[in-house]
Amino acid sequence: MAKKEKKLPRLKFKCWNCERTYTLLPSEITEEQKLIVPCPYCDAEAVVKVEPFKKRVMSVARRRDEEGSAIGFEYDFPEVIPTENPGQS
Ligand SMILES: [Zn+2]
Repeated sequence: MAKKEKKLPRLKFKCWNCERTYTLLPSEITEEQKLIVPCPYCDAEAVVKVEPFKKRVMSVARRRDEEGSAIGFEYDFPEVIPTENPGQS
């Protein structure tokens, strides 16, 4: 069975260019582990590197026995996610 990545919730971003915040439902994470979240205010291309927010989740049901020792990934995003200029790196 193919691994399914958890669907992303609606997230809040801060534009690197105009510094306004906006909410967006990111469609997908690219192969480079980036979210592409263009700013609706100034039309700037903005990206978020998700790698720093990715954390390995081990055995959620740790306190009870050892059942369900599934290892997966979860994203631990801050309330407002800073974005980057994609042309910078
Ligand atoms: Zn902007």
